Amino acid sequence: MYRTHNCGELRLTHLNQKVVLSGWVRRVRNAGGIIWIDLRDRYGITQLIMEEQYTTPELIQVAKSLGREFVIQTEGLVIERTSKNPKIPTGDVEVKVSKIKILNESKLPPFLIEDETDGGEELRMQYRYLDLRRSVVQQNLIMRHKVAQEVRAYMNSQAFLEIETPVLLKSTPEGARDFVVPSRMHAGEFYALPQSPQILKQLLMVSGYDRYYQIVKCFRDEDLRADRQPEFTQIDCEMSFVSQDDVLTMFEGLIKHVFKAIKQVDLPNFQRMTFADAMQNYGSDKPDLRFGMSFKYLTELAKNKGFKVFDEAEAIVGISVDGGAEFTRKQTDELTLFVQRPQVGAKGLVWVRYATDGTLKSSVDKFFTTEQLKEWAGLFGAKPGDMLLILAGGLNSTRKALCELRLEVGNRLNLRSKDVFKPLWVVDFPMFDVDEETGACASMHHPFTSPLWEDFDKIETEPASVRSSGYDMVMNGVELGGGSIRIHSKEVQRKIFRILGLSEEELQMQFGFLLEALDYGAPPHGGIAFGLDRLCTMLGGLDSIREFIAFPKNNAGRDVMMQSPSLLSDAQLKELYLRIEAEKVSK
Ligand code: ASP
Repeated sequence: MYRTHNCGELRLTHLNQKVVLSGWVRRVRNAGGIIWIDLRDRYGITQLIMEEQYTTPELIQVAKSLGREFVIQTEGLVIERTSKNPKIPTGDVEVKVSKIKILNESKLPPFLIEDETDGGEELRMQYRYLDLRRSVVQQNLIMRHKVAQEVRAYMNSQAFLEIETPVLLKSTPEGARDFVVPSRMHAGEFYALPQSPQILKQLLMVSGYDRYYQIVKCFRDEDLRADRQPEFTQIDCEMSFVSQDDVLTMFEGLIKHVFKAIKQVDLPNFQRMTFADAMQNYGSDKPDLRFGMSFKYLTELAKNKGFKVFDEAEAIVGISVDGGAEFTRKQTDELTLFVQRPQVGAKGLVWVRYATDGTLKSSVDKFFTTEQLKEWAGLFGAKPGDMLLILAGGLNSTRKALCELRLEVGNRLNLRSKDVFKPLWVVDFPMFDVDEETGACASMHHPFTSPLWEDFDKIETEPASVRSSGYDMVMNGVELGGGSIRIHSKEVQRKIFRILGLSEEELQMQFGFLLEALDYGAPPHGGIAFGLDRLCTMLGGLDSIREFIAFPKNNAGRDVMMQSPSLLSDAQLKELYLRIEAEKVSK
């Protein structure tokens, strides 16, 4: 028997019991004839004690030979501590050791295995198995486990079936680039890893399974933007015979259930906002509603008044910052530099300070009178003590830049607390992203998303104005999930593929099986997928999904522990009928 208890278990109720513990040596302290050892496992830390005068020299010698992260088994008596440690649950007791057995030695780890470690990210990822011993990391993975269990509990209670779908699939365009796997048995042919099980879950609806879910790995070979992983986990769901409202209600229920179970938070009912309103008022399809400062449009009032920057602009848009009149000159200068960063892309920032004494001062006093500034303040609903921040330029680029500025100001004023949750549904997305130059249409969600029927007659003539039945669940400026009501008519699906630019031949080759399935009694259906990693990050109040993934890849998509991706041997390549162009090899 390796242990009678774990390292987080012993309390005063165990006093005078003989116990056996196993775990890792966190540290050994030796002071004036007394040796203490902190013994750690997943459940906690227990202090071991040995007093030289009451112990055998052999035991003391073993204790002194222990290094950090040695794995030991120990036997002893539970006693009350003279100086208690209220910071840990086992802090009232310690174990008076009578035996120690070294089960395995350890090299000195390359960084401290403590919550506050001295190891940098790259080093910790290289030795991820040691990093995973740290309690803070373990707590994240434990939370992820609980989230997955709560998701299952809710879905099971609603009659959803958890059904697995294959990982070796067929390459079909779904928005991102596929990861592909060469087939040895079929020379020159490839499987693709699923970007999501989208088509398969729709086929399960055709098969009559009615309610499906799966906690499933998805793979997308994208250039990695911040906080993306080439593989990630979705809570993937689909339902038959549902309207958009049915789906939103069901999954609002899921997220409320998870927040209650994991954080004891009662989420409010989710607002619903159209894509058009989100863009108009926040410049983003994932607005952070933890604070106000919605956009106001000054174009009518301020254009053609002799200020060139405004006169040449398609849109003049601003926000009013509550209490912003207190910003110093240095702070407004910093905000100007912020909007001029290439990622934000504005040329400059116009500010209007509405001082508490009611006077108005601005960075464009040369061009506008106090009366005019007053009119602006009226449009913004600003009051003394506020500050207007205004950008001008093309409509889309100005909205995008102002969205960034709004979030930055929100950060600076601490308005984006991790303990406040503002969920909403964004609905009525445009069906297509239409290239302004070529007119080419790409799906905004994916090609299986149904258009809104009231817009259907414009689908060929004015595709840019057609709205889809797609929806996103957004919380605190983060997209937690997205989905849609699907197309269940073969003719409509074919039409959409054609608008997306697929020839009849291409669509038969890539989607023939789907079109055929739609011919065999496909029910109306719809669904959604949530990012599990991202949901955990939101619940955990952290910034990176990596914190909730046991073995994540780095920002360049590499696993620095296993050193993957890696080269294949010539024999493997030959078996797969592959040849690598030598000059393309990156190392
Ligand atoms: N398959 C979609 C995605 O991965 C989600 C959905 O439409 O259900 O984004």
